[in-house]
Amino acid sequence: MADKKFDVVPLYEWGMFTEPRPSVVAGPCSAESEEQVMETAKGLRELGINVFRAGIWKPRTHPGCFEGVGAEGLKWMQRARKEYGVKIATEVAGEKHVAECLKAEVDMVWLGARTTANPFLVQEIADALKGTDIPVLVKNPVNADLDLWIGALERLSRAGIRKLGVIHRGFSTFDKIKYRNDPQWQVAIELRSRYPELPFFVDPSHMGGSRNYIQEISQRSLDLGFEGLMIESHCNPSVALSDAKQQLTPAELKDLLYNQIVVRESDSDSPEWRENIDQLRAKIDVIDENIIYTLGSRMRVSRQIGEYKKHNNIAILQTARWDQLFAKVVEKGEEYGLTEKFLTDVFNAIHEASVEAQNEIISGKK
Ligand code: PEP
Ligand code: MN
Repeated sequence: MADKKFDVVPLYEWGMFTEPRPSVVAGPCSAESEEQVMETAKGLRELGINVFRAGIWKPRTHPGCFEGVGAEGLKWMQRARKEYGVKIATEVAGEKHVAECLKAEVDMVWLGARTTANPFLVQEIADALKGTDIPVLVKNPVNADLDLWIGALERLSRAGIRKLGVIHRGFSTFDKIKYRNDPQWQVAIELRSRYPELPFFVDPSHMGGSRNYIQEISQRSLDLGFEGLMIESHCNPSVALSDAKQQLTPAELKDLLYNQIVVRESDSDSPEWRENIDQLRAKIDVIDENIIYTLGSRMRVSRQIGEYKKHNNIAILQTARWDQLFAKVVEKGEEYGLTEKFLTDVFNAIHEASVEAQNEIISGKK
């Protein structure tokens, strides 16, 4: 069943982003002082950034850290808007923040990951925004719960917000991984395919947690067809009061956007491209049919084994047999350039389905 579409205004009609991709929101993690806001906004404006972000109220993991300068910072942002012509954006986590932002005529707000995870707060924010047409971006919740993310979007949409988009910043994980937050791109891809109408940003700063990963995450995100990037930028990142490791100077951001990332076309009208791609896709279609046929055949044999086990009163699972089979699969797979991770995912799915089918036979459901 197709999901109901969100009634949204296309990104390029919000009056703040222009094609071509990527649409960039940049600015410091936090507004720290009037000088820092002005200097950073000036640097960003010079490289063509239209939308300036800065956190005013900061949700910090531990108490006692810098928790933002509060509404005072909005005045500095207003000054940056007036002098440099940038649009200004900040994070809101409750109705008081919304009221301050509306009073300061902030151009866009976003909900942070910790807020999206809390439906009470999201509803409070949605209620406070009712009747406005301010653009709102919704970061993913800290945990990889797609429904919770969609639920937040629904609450804002029901409040009449039509300039609505998302920011993927990755998910918290207890495991030690390369990035600060786990991208789990499949969740982002699922959201995009269910709601292609929603403008989609990726936040490589919070996802990577280090300036060293901003390029690779930005490139990945463009290659996946997402149109926007939110990147933290500070005039002097090494002394930033929050997220010092994941911010670029405006000059570094310029180098990233103009020299280090490649914007690939999502499609082309060239006849040569069309002919070649159509041929390759035809091949893929045949291979996919073969895969389905082969999986079907495997499943039939698996059911026969199930019947045979039932007849002989043998349990479904023989783990030694599975370990042996899988070792052979990995060895063979390597010859074809398939990684162990990929084979594990595929064969675990196959194994699970086989066990399920045999279980139905043995328990007499089929
Ligand atoms: C931020 O954008 O500064 C921020 C706090 O991000 P997140 O909600 O993704 O942690
Ligand atoms: Mn930050």
